Amino acid sequence: MELNSSNIKVAIIGGGLAGLAAASELSSHGIKATVFETAPQLGGRARSVHWKGLILDNGQHILLGAYHQTLRLMKKIGLNAEESLLRQSLNLNMLHAIHLKSYKSLPAPFNLLMGLLTCKGLNWSERYLAIRFLIQLKRINFKLDQDIPLNELLKRFKQPSYLIRHLWEPLCLAALNTPINAASSQIYSNVLKDSFNQKKTDSDLLLPRNDLSNLLAEPLADFIRAHQGEIKLNSHVKQLEKVNHDFTVNGSNFTHVILAVAPFRLAEMIEPLGEMVATDLVTKFTYEPIYTVYLQYPHDVKLPQVMIGLTKTMSQWVFDRGQLNGQKGLIAVIISAKGEHQKLTHEALANEVIAELKTAFPNLPSPKWHKVIAEKRATFACTANLKRPQQKTTIQNLYLAGDYTEGNYPATIEGAIQSGLSAAQLILQS
Ligand SMILES: Cc1cc2nc3c(=O)[nH]c(=O)nc-3n(C[C@H](O)[C@H](O)[C@H](O)COP(=O)(O)OP(=O)(O)OC[C@H]3O[C@@H](n4cnc5c(N)ncnc54)[C@H](O)[C@@H]3O)c2cc1C
Repeated sequence: MELNSSNIKVAIIGGGLAGLAAASELSSHGIKATVFETAPQLGGRARSVHWKGLILDNGQHILLGAYHQTLRLMKKIGLNAEESLLRQSLNLNMLHAIHLKSYKSLPAPFNLLMGLLTCKGLNWSERYLAIRFLIQLKRINFKLDQDIPLNELLKRFKQPSYLIRHLWEPLCLAALNTPINAASSQIYSNVLKDSFNQKKTDSDLLLPRNDLSNLLAEPLADFIRAHQGEIKLNSHVKQLEKVNHDFTVNGSNFTHVILAVAPFRLAEMIEPLGEMVATDLVTKFTYEPIYTVYLQYPHDVKLPQVMIGLTKTMSQWVFDRGQLNGQKGLIAVIISAKGEHQKLTHEALANEVIAELKTAFPNLPSPKWHKVIAEKRATFACTANLKRPQQKTTIQNLYLAGDYTEGNYPATIEGAIQSGLSAAQLILQS
């Protein structure tokens, strides 16, 4: 049978942002898309969590001005990103260490270079070496001839340890969720390139004003439904079967499948179909956790800034949810990647974080409650030379989507959305 848009039926397995982006793209082109999601809610690793009558997120997320596909998709489905995201030009306040602010009046990359030239907490030599590092990367168009762990690249570019500790390392943990002694310097350079090399707004920080489910997943689902797509929650897909040219997914037939599950769920689903290339690659992946410690302080507690970095502590980034989305007195503390914090019970970890915040902000009273959310496999470890599977598989009409598939980004919302849109495009162009 000749396939045309009226008889193409696509099953998308996984209702995270990759799967939802794919389904929205296909639906907007008149292709029937059905999303199967195992959980009772959409959003996957970017979802809301209900707790004590509040809506928390499974982890505080940050987006960047350079997330062009995400912002384009938001616009396409009718969302006003300027309303749902708090846009701030780059303002990295690593408390009692350095304070880097970009110059919004200057075009990129001068906004950042000038920021580095006047960065508080760095001496002249450190400022010069940081600027030289970026200029040298720019000269080679941020394309390294060899991918090496980031700490080696920083050494090669003679970056002083204070600068690494207080700037490059926190940025690496925030962007790649991978320690610098393993992190891919090429992917790190890609993020620097996209954030600082094109438009000055690309380095803006975009902080969700909504809980994560309402920010992206639910509006995407509404769009898909409004375009004749279907969303099936509580629909775990155990196995994929291929019968002649069609796939059978939970008893229904589809011409195409996009597998949009996390990488650690992939092998069990595609191995039986004989897709070994992707299976071999993902079984070599390792994973990094992200812990979020929520602390509810009295409603009048307000931090000096909506987002503040801490160094020499377990706590890495501190967010004031009151200033973000009106959850007054609620502070979210992020701890990325593996570390000593994982040896503590949630109770002990919360107490440690409370003590660290008290040292950083001596006027803080005691919090009324705390809640720790540990995402043990929050992201794949974005290590040097990691081979990631392509979206097109060796099996006809079977595609992969997800933040871990081949691309220029680490595990991020933008990476997930880019992959979903690409997988949909492969079907549209086939
Ligand atoms: C705590 C935390 C903090 C983060 N912070 C940031 C940040 O600040 N900025 C940023 O850009 N990114 C951040 N990320 C990363 C970002 O959330 C992810 O990259 C992105 O959400 C991944 O989307 P995905 O669709 O690729 O995968 P997932 O979100 O994992 O989606 C896969 C979906 O498939 C479903 N599924 C699995 N198996 C089956 C099955 N058999 N049948 C049906 N459904 C199935 C799952 O339930 C899930 O919903 C963070 C992630 C975490 C966990």
